[in-house]
Amino acid sequence: MTVARVIVDVPSRDTDRTFDYSIPPQLAGWVEVGSRVAVPFGGRALQGIVTGLADDAEVEATKLKPIAELMDAVPPLSAELVLLGEWISRRWLCPLTVALQAMLPAALKGKAEKYVYPAAGAEWSDEEAFFAGGLVQALQRGEPRKLVALLQQYPEHGDLLRLWLKQGRLEERQRVENRLSVKTVQTVFAPSAEALRQALAELPARARKQHEVLAYLREHPEPIAVERLAEALGTTSTTIRALYERGSIEIRAVTEDRDPYANRHFPASAPMTLTPAQAEAIAPILAALDSREHSSFLLHGVTGSGKTELYLQSIDRCLQSGREAIVLVPEISLTPQMVERFKSRFGAKVAVLHSRLSNGERYDEWRKIREGRAQVAVGARSAIFAPFERLGLIVIDEEHETSYKQEESPKYHARDVAIERARQHGAAVVLGSATPSLETYAAAKRGDGGMGYIPLPQRVADRPLPGVRIVDMREELKLGNRAMFSRALHEAITERLAKGEQMVLLLNRRGYATFVMCRSCGYTALCPHCEIALTYHRGAQNMRCHYCGYAEAEPKTCPSCQSPHIRYFGTGTQKVEESLAETFPGIRVIRMDVDTTTEKGSHERWLTEFRERRADVLLGTQMVAKGLDFPYVTLVGVLAADAALRLPDFRASERTFQLLTQVAGRAGRHELPGEVIIQTYDPEHPSITSVQGHHYEGFVRQELKLRHVFGYPPYGRLIGVTFSHESVPMLLSVGQRFATRLKEHAAAERVGTDFSDGTRDVLEVLGPVASPIARLKDRYRFQCMVKYRGEVDASRLAAQALRELDDAVKKNGLQVSVDVDPQMML
Ligand code: ADP
Ligand code: ZN
Ligand code: ZN
Repeated sequence: MTVARVIVDVPSRDTDRTFDYSIPPQLAGWVEVGSRVAVPFGGRALQGIVTGLADDAEVEATKLKPIAELMDAVPPLSAELVLLGEWISRRWLCPLTVALQAMLPAALKGKAEKYVYPAAGAEWSDEEAFFAGGLVQALQRGEPRKLVALLQQYPEHGDLLRLWLKQGRLEERQRVENRLSVKTVQTVFAPSAEALRQALAELPARARKQHEVLAYLREHPEPIAVERLAEALGTTSTTIRALYERGSIEIRAVTEDRDPYANRHFPASAPMTLTPAQAEAIAPILAALDSREHSSFLLHGVTGSGKTELYLQSIDRCLQSGREAIVLVPEISLTPQMVERFKSRFGAKVAVLHSRLSNGERYDEWRKIREGRAQVAVGARSAIFAPFERLGLIVIDEEHETSYKQEESPKYHARDVAIERARQHGAAVVLGSATPSLETYAAAKRGDGGMGYIPLPQRVADRPLPGVRIVDMREELKLGNRAMFSRALHEAITERLAKGEQMVLLLNRRGYATFVMCRSCGYTALCPHCEIALTYHRGAQNMRCHYCGYAEAEPKTCPSCQSPHIRYFGTGTQKVEESLAETFPGIRVIRMDVDTTTEKGSHERWLTEFRERRADVLLGTQMVAKGLDFPYVTLVGVLAADAALRLPDFRASERTFQLLTQVAGRAGRHELPGEVIIQTYDPEHPSITSVQGHHYEGFVRQELKLRHVFGYPPYGRLIGVTFSHESVPMLLSVGQRFATRLKEHAAAERVGTDFSDGTRDVLEVLGPVASPIARLKDRYRFQCMVKYRGEVDASRLAAQALRELDDAVKKNGLQVSVDVDPQMML
C-alpha cells in the first residue's frame, strides 16, 4: 500500500471526504488505518487521520503529495474506531473529522506551527558563512527552527534572516505539533554495588555532598527522581549532575503518569456473596459474557438493589476471559465514592476518564488503555471511545441520564454508540437504572435487537424504600402559609435538627424557560396540539408552543379557577438558602449548584464536608439527587416538584419522575429509616403520585399512552433542525424550503405524512417555528422538527434536503445545526 486516504481536521462540508497522499518509503508499513498524520493542504499543514489505504493503481494518475509526518508510532485509533466514526457521522449527520476528533484526548489535537527551513537549492557563500557562521551552519543542518527561536539565539543577525526570507532562500512552513506530550522525569539509576564502591573510592574527599549521594544510593539502589533525591539529602540537582558527568551514575528521562489518584489509597474489596435475587439477575449476563456473542440487557433495579455489585462481578468475569470493560457513569456521579468502588476491586487495572481531569492527566489515563496497561475504563460519556481492542463488556449506569447525549457536534448518544461498538466486538452491554428511559424500557420489553429485561425490584437486605409524602401547596396557600416550606416540611426539618440527622433539599429548577402557573389550583397552560407547556414571552406578553408555534395571550386570571394568583414561576437556590437561615436560626447549609461548583474539586469538597457532618442540609439542584450515599440522611425534601414538569419538552414528565425517584433514593440507605416530602401544586400528576408508591410501571403505562397519541419516542423518532441568521424572512423561506423538500423526498419513497393514520412508515415535518432561544448573538433562530416512525431513513432524507439548500446556506451565511434524536428540546 503506497497511498493513504486522509480525513483532514477541517470540519466543513467541502472537506468532508478523504484526500489521497502518498506514503513516503521510510514510512512504508508504519502508516495504518487510524494513524494520525500531518499533511500539506493548500499551503497549510493540517492534522489528519488515515481512514483507508490504497495502491497506486487505484488512484487517479495525478501526482500525490507525500504525507509530511507520522504523528505517533502507534496509531491512536484502531480500524474499529475509524469505522465507528463513520457510523457516527452518518447517524448524527456530522463531518467525519468531528466524530474522529471526539475519540481523541485533547492532547492529540495537533496545532500547526510555523518553522523556518532553507529553500530547496538555497546556498550560502563563504563570505556569509564567515559573518554568520553559527546561523548558517544551523540552517544548513536543515533542522527546522522557529523564527523566534533563531532570533533569540542570533539577535545580531535579525536583518540577515529577514533578507534571506525575502529573497526566498529561507522559507516558513507549517508543521503540526502536539499540544501536549508525555511527562518525563529525570531519574537517577544507581550503578551496580561493585561500580558504586569504585566510584566512592575515586571521588575526591572534598566532594562531601557527592559522597552522601553515592552512600544514599548504596542503601537505596532503586531508581529515584533527581529532584526527590536532592530533596531527601538537602542538596541540589547540580551535585547529582556532577556525579553523572563523572560517569558514576546514570540519569535518564523516564515517562511518568500524571495520575489524579496517585495519593489516594483504595482498600481492597472482595466480591460479595450475592443475594438470591442478585444471583438470578446476573446469570444471563455471565452467560452472555461466556458466549462471547453480542447481547444487551436492561438491568432495572431500584436504588440500593445492588446493581453496582453486579457490574463489578460482571467485569470480573469479563477480565478473567482476557477481555476489557468500559463503565459509563454520569459525569455528576463520578465522585470519589464511585471511583473508589472500582479502584478497590480492580486496583491498577482501572483508568478513570472525566472532565475534571487536566489534559495531561486525561492523556495519561488514555495511554494506559491504549498501551494495554488498564483493562477497565470508568468514565463519563466520552469514555465510550476508550481505545480497547478486546472489549467484552460495556456497562452504562443510570442509563436514562441526559448527560449521555452530547449537546454539541458530534451529537451522539453514548448508549447507541455502546451498542454499535459492542456489536463489532461481540461484547455484552448492561444498561442499569432504577428509572430507565422509556426508549430503553420499551426496547427491552419488546426485545428489540434481542435486548433482555432483568428486574431487581428489592433493595439488598430488604431495607425498606423510604416513605414518600406529597404536600399540596395549594392547601398551604388556602391556610395562609405563603412560606417556601409547608408545615409538614417545617416540622420534619425541626425534628432532624433536634436529632442531629441530615437532610437533602432539592430545588427542582433547571433551564431558563418560564411557565405560567396558578398558585391556587396548579393550572398550567399546555399547547392543545402538542401537550407541551407553553412558554412565557415577556416581550410579547404571550405564551407560545415551541414545537408547533401555537400562541395565546397571557391570562390575567386563572382560566380554571378564576384566581388572580396566576403568574410565572421560579425561585433560586440562593433564596432558599436565605429562607432556611431565617426560618431555622443556626442551621448549617451547604448549597450546591452551578455557581458554587465551578472551581475544580469544589464538588468533592462540599460532599466531604457533608459526609463529615459539618452541615445539616445539602441544598441544591439535580446535582444533589444522584449517586450520593450518606448514612445520616433521613429526610429528603423537594421544594418545587412542578418546575421540571412545565418545561417545554415532551420528556418533562419522565424527567421529573426520574429525578424525584432518584432523590427519594438518597434517604434511609443504611440503618436509619428515611422519609421523603414532596411539595407540589399538582399532587395528582402521575409523575408525582408514582414516586409515592415507587411505582415505575404505573407511571410508564400512563406516559406511554400519551407518547403514542402524539407520536413521540418510543413510538416515533425526532430530528431537530435549527437555522440561524440575522434575517427572519430569510430563515422562514429557507426553513419552508427545507420542509417542502424533505416532504417531497419522503413522498418519493412512499412514506406516509400523517401520524394518526395506520401506515407503518410515516414522516412529518413541524415548523419552521421560532426556537425556544429565539435569538442568540444577534442571530434569529428557527427550527423544524422532523417526526418519523417505521423504517424511514430520516437522517439520510434530511441530509439530502439540506444538501439541496447548500447554495442558499453558503451564499447567505446561514447556519444550520441538526440534532438527531434530540434529548433537550430547548
Ligand atoms: P445500587 O447500585 O443498585 O444502588 P449498590 O450496589 O450500591 O446498589 O448496593 C447498595 C448497598 O448494598 C451497598 O452498600 C452495597 O455495598 C450493598 N450490597 C450490595 N450487594 C450486596 C450483597 N450481595 N450483600 C451485602 N451487601 C450488598
Ligand atoms: Zn387556578
Ligand atoms: Zn404545539
